[in-house]
Amino acid sequence: MNDIIIVGSGPAGHTAAIYSARAGLDTTLFEGWMAGGIAPGGQLTTTNEIENFPGFPEGMTGPELMATIRKQSVGQGVEIFTETVESVDLSKRPFKVKTPSREMEASAIIIATGAIARRMGVPNEDKFWQKGISACAVCDGALPLFRNQPLVVIGGGDTAMEEAMHLSKFGSMVYVVHRRDELRASKAMQERVLANEKITILWNTVMLDVGGSEVLEHVVLKNVKTGEEFKQDAKGLFYAIGHNPNTVFLDDQLDLDETGYILTKPGTTNTSIPGVFAAGDVQDKVYRQAVTSAGTGCMASLDAEKYLGENPL
Ligand SMILES: Cc1cc2nc3c(=O)[nH]c(=O)nc-3n(C[C@H](O)[C@H](O)[C@H](O)COP(=O)(O)OP(=O)(O)OC[C@H]3O[C@@H](n4cnc5c(N)ncnc54)[C@H](O)[C@@H]3O)c2cc1C
Repeated sequence: MNDIIIVGSGPAGHTAAIYSARAGLDTTLFEGWMAGGIAPGGQLTTTNEIENFPGFPEGMTGPELMATIRKQSVGQGVEIFTETVESVDLSKRPFKVKTPSREMEASAIIIATGAIARRMGVPNEDKFWQKGISACAVCDGALPLFRNQPLVVIGGGDTAMEEAMHLSKFGSMVYVVHRRDELRASKAMQERVLANEKITILWNTVMLDVGGSEVLEHVVLKNVKTGEEFKQDAKGLFYAIGHNPNTVFLDDQLDLDETGYILTKPGTTNTSIPGVFAAGDVQDKVYRQAVTSAGTGCMASLDAEKYLGENPL
């Protein structure tokens, strides 16, 4: 039996693994195989430039960063299986974890399965993903290709407004495409956005497609009230339409919020079941950064180590 099983292989899972193995705990990590359509290593494997992860002043590609972190896990003695966890049994200790090819037990479990940014699914989206289309303005907004260029944000909630405000520091104009004639965002946030001269809201508008040659150059929009279709120049397109946390395999055994994120006790990584901990984007819909995921991965390992010390099997 393992001391700790970690499910998920982004910055949260690997940081938890490195800390657990260094603490002398018998640690196994399931990195998944295209779980949720994402390669082992997590969301960063889908992006090119990472310029805000401390320790790499020259920047690094996402796949390079995750390969480096994985190497550190292996070096610390973490056992890694390239398998997706299909189900867990958290009803009693030892907890059970099942993949298509094995079942394993552990005294404690850390869930670090991340989340997937929702996409619009327009016809040419794949062609321009990461060539102008992004799901993270904080991560990508400051990149040179977006400077003084027209940018588009899709969404109408607080996140979309925050992203638009952030992008207004870099773009020539930020167009917020919103399908209704009023925003869902809080009143205070709306006031800030409406007062910002570098943000234009395109009301009653939906996006039909994206276009360009090598990189994104425009989006195709439609006014749902008039039926008019038109092109809007755009060098950047930022989706702010939410994320889907990877929690379906938990089969409602842990307390989740209304959108499927694992609920943790504030200031800890403790879930609703003692001995089960959650780290990274799967429990965080606010910060969603590699470094905050790594931070909560560290917390989860320390919380688990303490728990195992106080609750040996
Ligand atoms: C395009 C893009 C660009 C980004 N750029 C930056 C940036 O520049 N800087 C920054 O700080 N952040 C960036 N982010 C955000 C950052 O990637 C995430 O905050 C971070 O990766 C979250 O880490 P995580 O460990 O919680 O999970 P994830 O990175 O989501 O990884 C979770 C992993 O677990 C696997 N998994 C899921 N379910 C299972 C299962 N049942 N069994 C086994 N494995 C499973 C998944 O396949 C995935 O590989 C970006 C995100 C995106 C989408």
